[in-house]
Amino acid sequence: MQYYSLHKKAPSVSFKDAVIKGLAPDKGLYFPESITRLSNDFINNITEYANQEIGYEVIKQFIGNEIPEDELKKIIAETLTFDFPLIGIENNIKTLELFHGPTMAFKDVGARFMARCLGYLNADPDNDKEVTVLVATSGDTGGAVASGFLGVKNVNVVILYPSKKVSDVQEKQLTTLGKNIKALEVEGTFDDCQAMVKKAFLDESITSIKQLTSANSINVARWLPQMFYFFLAYKQLKNKDKKFVFSVPSGNYGNICAGMMAKKLGLPIHGFIASTNVNDIVPKFLQTGEYKPQPSKQTISNAMDVGDPSNFIRIQEIYNNDFESLKNDLHSYSFTDDETREAMSHLYKKCNYIADPHGAVGYLGCRQYQKKNHNTLCIFLETAHPVKFLDVVEPVIEKSIDFPPQIQAVMGKTKEATFISSYAELKSFLLRKTSND
Ligand SMILES: *Cc1c(COP(=O)(O)O)cnc(C)c1O
Repeated sequence: MQYYSLHKKAPSVSFKDAVIKGLAPDKGLYFPESITRLSNDFINNITEYANQEIGYEVIKQFIGNEIPEDELKKIIAETLTFDFPLIGIENNIKTLELFHGPTMAFKDVGARFMARCLGYLNADPDNDKEVTVLVATSGDTGGAVASGFLGVKNVNVVILYPSKKVSDVQEKQLTTLGKNIKALEVEGTFDDCQAMVKKAFLDESITSIKQLTSANSINVARWLPQMFYFFLAYKQLKNKDKKFVFSVPSGNYGNICAGMMAKKLGLPIHGFIASTNVNDIVPKFLQTGEYKPQPSKQTISNAMDVGDPSNFIRIQEIYNNDFESLKNDLHSYSFTDDETREAMSHLYKKCNYIADPHGAVGYLGCRQYQKKNHNTLCIFLETAHPVKFLDVVEPVIEKSIDFPPQIQAVMGKTKEATFISSYAELKSFLLRKTSND
């Protein structure tokens, strides 16, 4: 499969090059040259397929012959090693829990898939050049990428995270693994981290020496496997005739954009709700038609503290840059931290469900949408386990949350991170690493 740059000023590349490069040389995101609908037969009989088989059917066209069938099946089997249960919450509201992976956030699937693809594609015996995965995280990406890439040969990982703006659990997950994983604690916001990463990709004094790639959802191998969730939700729906929509807690808009791709592949999704915190660029865009990036604001759902969502350009491409057709499918609402806390409290008291702040925002999106759209089923994605946001969740529900084993294991370990406060320090870190390797 060929991928073109959405800025249209760089040549198209293979899946391999799109994965290794991350971002096109003209700074555009890569997008597949064709999208072919899956057969109705597959979609109508989805309950007869195992999760791994669904994953294979969904993703194979985006890889083409660049990874052999048995290898791709193995990568998917190693990616989908946990469950994605669909749980009833209230009348006409369900949640799809995406947090049963090793770091308890939905990004595990994308990170595990990408790590294995990169490991395979870069394992060229004639070329043992190392790849450095450079990634900015607002919290969950870092842990998922660190865990997904740990020990992958010829791949080094450098993670930038905003100092004091990620939770304790998140920080432990990305600073305690060692081996090929290095964490940089940045004085600044997530947007600052992301800006530094983007700058490094374009800095020839680095890229002439190091092959850099991203593991943010701008990378096609992180973004596309997120389509699996929407198919796996559909597989579990008892009544497949009722109109259903997904409410996706959105930050960089990779997950929801993967849902839109799932719809393009033929999944009968009635619509999407981009639910977000006060970083309300997309809800404002749908109201006014004007897309205005803003500096990010800090909230209790910090994985969505994004002021210029990278994947929004892919969403516009899926809808042929047609505002009206996008508005038909996409609704978007913004919620404050107080509303989010109230939702967590309601979910706990009335539905006996402990949601994390991101899931709670997703739930609020369902409620808002259903005020006008009665008789739809709304599925909100629960993108992280509540234990990852303990300091927010516990005071709201007035109950302590037990640590699942995968979290217990990291909490006792010692943080190792390098503090940086400027791009120059990032650069010297990346170059210094080369000379030490
Ligand atoms: C990353 C993340 C999001 C936002 O996902 P995007 O694909 O960036 O929109 C939501 N919730 C949690 C817990 C996350 O880690």
